[in-house]
Amino acid sequence: MIRFDELLGQDRVVDALRRSIAANRVAHAYLFEGIPGCGRRTTAVALIATLFCHQPTAVGACGSCPSCKKLAAGNHPDLHLLEPLPDKRDISIEQVRELQQMLSLRPFEAKRKACLIEPAERMSVGAANSLLKTLEEPPGHGLLILLTSQADLLLPTVRSRCQHLRFAPLGIDDLTSLLVRQGMTPDSAATLAPLAEGSLELACNLKEEDASASRQVLLDALRQVRHQQVATVFDTSERLVGGRNEALELVAQLISLLRDMLLLRSAASDRIANVSLQGRLLEEADRFLPARLMEALELAMETRRAIQGNVNPKLALDRYLLRYSRLRIT
Ligand SMILES: [Zn+2]
Repeated sequence: MIRFDELLGQDRVVDALRRSIAANRVAHAYLFEGIPGCGRRTTAVALIATLFCHQPTAVGACGSCPSCKKLAAGNHPDLHLLEPLPDKRDISIEQVRELQQMLSLRPFEAKRKACLIEPAERMSVGAANSLLKTLEEPPGHGLLILLTSQADLLLPTVRSRCQHLRFAPLGIDDLTSLLVRQGMTPDSAATLAPLAEGSLELACNLKEEDASASRQVLLDALRQVRHQQVATVFDTSERLVGGRNEALELVAQLISLLRDMLLLRSAASDRIANVSLQGRLLEEADRFLPARLMEALELAMETRRAIQGNVNPKLALDRYLLRYSRLRIT
């Protein structure tokens, strides 16, 4: 659960919300406008958590009371999410009516009932008109937060009945910190952040693409070293290896690929992690009996322990690829 003081890059909006909470003047409807991945939803949940929390502090929700735990687990009975149904483009009028029905009831556990509407611009005209009634005469305990990337796509009457808060794209420093918080190395985060146009979501997509590209390179390398001379194997490892952290990342990817190969050999393709590489993985996996793949996986884990234990990364990878290149096919 993210608290207000842990939110990054939206100080102006967060200050305004904290002042409203302190003055007991939280609006009944907000419109959060900003690009996807700039922190709108996280901020909305931090606001709701603070209002729901049994023992809020000066910086927001406590994170440990039953209410905070239910919110974090996504099963608080007083938080309702309104989004298009999986097979539909728009939020329908029926969905808005259900929401109104729900809002007319007293809260189950919290002091208020909250609803996140996302993306708000995808409400059908009927749905938006129906929501107007609720925005004009909100139930005293109701809190609606509409999230949008383009407020001008909403009906002006809907816009004007919400407190409109504009979220800026995240700055490069904040984005870098958020990526590090998600477990990325500071170097990778600093490289990626300037490319992500102020969006954590875009940064994560770029990271995913990047990881997929480097896994392809690794898979190519595994194919190339099979039954090759020692010199070729050592050249390949020279090409792949960087510093210790890069080597550990590489071995983590290797382990992930080998696990998937084993799953594919056991006909459990629905459980693999590297879905985009399924065809290539199956091709490589088909050359080995499952017992040999298990051996390759155990060797990779041993290699990870060796690098963690300060063995020279290049030597550890040489050794691994050499053993991989000599794995018997059956
Ligand atoms: Zn709490």
